[in-house]
Amino acid sequence: MPELPDVEHLTRYFRETSLGQKIMDVACQAPELLRFTDAAAFRARLRGRRFSRAWRRGKFLIAQVEGLSEKVVLHFGMTGSLRYVPSGEPEDRFCRLAFRFESGFELRWLCVRKLGKVYLVQEVQDIPLLREMGPEPLALAPLEFLDLLERHRNKSIKGFFLDQRSIAGIGNVYGDEILFQAGIHPRRRIADLSPAARERLYQVMQQVLQEATELMAAGQPFPDSWLLPHRYEGLCPAQEGHGLIREIIAGRAAIYCPECQK
Ligand SMILES: [Zn+2]
Repeated sequence: MPELPDVEHLTRYFRETSLGQKIMDVACQAPELLRFTDAAAFRARLRGRRFSRAWRRGKFLIAQVEGLSEKVVLHFGMTGSLRYVPSGEPEDRFCRLAFRFESGFELRWLCVRKLGKVYLVQEVQDIPLLREMGPEPLALAPLEFLDLLERHRNKSIKGFFLDQRSIAGIGNVYGDEILFQAGIHPRRRIADLSPAARERLYQVMQQVLQEATELMAAGQPFPDSWLLPHRYEGLCPAQEGHGLIREIIAGRAAIYCPECQK
């Protein structure tokens, strides 16, 4: 699922390709994924207008439209992405929505498993997931993060990262990465983490999310020392001979090294 670094990357892509362009038409191939609107109303509201600003909150991309009181909000589900192509290009099989611009290009919202959503809302707070969302991890000062952990002390640390109401934008993959690099077992209860482990978690969380975002912007692969490129190989990248374990924790398949993570 696109998580914070991925959605940050998609948001930059959206800005670079689509801001300021006049929308000539909107093609909606999956109207059942629209929320607070329908295909006809969505098209009527957007035609002739331009996206003026775009930003990320958690795993959502929020776009402001010039002269329109509503905002367009994209959620990418498990498999969503964006593609900016000339309008004449063959249809993408998984394209669910396309904004066609005057320039002859279009922005396609792709969603293989149809688990994403497109919202048209007056206020982002109208969307329950956004209204209840926890703080942005990269905006947290160390003490604020420690306070936040304390407020969720009875959760497992993996459950904390997965719950968007605790902290925004982190999901299964980056949650596992942060815990791997911090050397913390995903099942550990927050209450049982030492002050040193909590501080280390903060530093690693900042570093992983920032570095992942920068690497994606630069089109570079993730470091070989990270868990992420090895998720499906079963071998720990930190130490030869360590095997990775895949186990359902807080409802998702966590991957971790039982030797490196305590
Ligand atoms: Zn290991």
